[in-house]
Amino acid sequence: MITVAVTGARGRMGMLIIENVTAAPDMELVAAFDLREIGAPAGVGDVLVSDAGEIDAVLEKTSPDVLIDFTIADAAVTNIRAAVTNNVRLVVGTTGLEPYQDEIAGIVAERVSAVIAPNFSVGVNLFWKLLADAVLYISDWDIEIIEAHHRNKKDAPSGTAMHAAAVISNALGGKELVHGREGLSPRGTEIGMHAVRGGDIIGDHTVLFAGDGERIEIRHQAHSRQAFAGGAIRAARWVIGAPKGIHGMDKVLGI
Ligand code: NAP
Repeated sequence: MITVAVTGARGRMGMLIIENVTAAPDMELVAAFDLREIGAPAGVGDVLVSDAGEIDAVLEKTSPDVLIDFTIADAAVTNIRAAVTNNVRLVVGTTGLEPYQDEIAGIVAERVSAVIAPNFSVGVNLFWKLLADAVLYISDWDIEIIEAHHRNKKDAPSGTAMHAAAVISNALGGKELVHGREGLSPRGTEIGMHAVRGGDIIGDHTVLFAGDGERIEIRHQAHSRQAFAGGAIRAARWVIGAPKGIHGMDKVLGI
């Protein structure tokens, strides 16, 4: 049985992760953390939501095999530190971690195995691969990334869109990124990045490659958050036997 702790347990993703863990025959929820609804049942079992401030003590007491984190960036760094201190493997889906990358790499080092991914969906990971392959044939075309998410998403652009830009930039040996356009802003050779927020859009990402007389769009659309939750559960199973250090979802999927 894989024992699991979940941070962000009352959040949209956290609640769905808990449902998935509860439904998995090989997994057991042993701890859940949030900033609100402390003491409320975390799911259908008898685990209650613990105060996120007590994560160290609760991880020490419950010693889960893996901690799954979908919170916000600065909270995720604290949670990663607590997991590593308690020798707990990690699956981290929180986005906006770019400014903390070096800090996280220093904390995790080779102490525990961790999967940290801005997008856990199988389709998005394939989307990134297709982008890297396609751009080599059309490296002189204009590239625009357009992402759309629900009105409550806190960070912009999405981690998925930023990773798409990085994948393309790496494939081309470096590209400038320009966020939005306003006024006089002639196009250069940059990657344009545009974030749309509204309604209950789960997550759309389109990369537009525009040449003379033609264009190609590579697009991924998530229909429900289960795309991410299912991938996180798959990563939680994989990380149990993984080498220590930080891995991406590409490793989990063998892409
Ligand atoms: P959400 O509904 O706002 O949930 C985040 C939850 O974390 C909230 O309940 C929040 O409480 C709680 N929280 C904040 N600080 C915490 C801490 N220190 N310890 C424990 N819980 C804490 O957001 P969401 O839609 O679930 O998304 C969460 C994160 O996952 C975001 O960064 C999002 O971009 C990312 N995400 C990633 C993927 C992926 O595939 N990698 C997919 C979907 C979402 P309060 O509301 O009280 O602050």
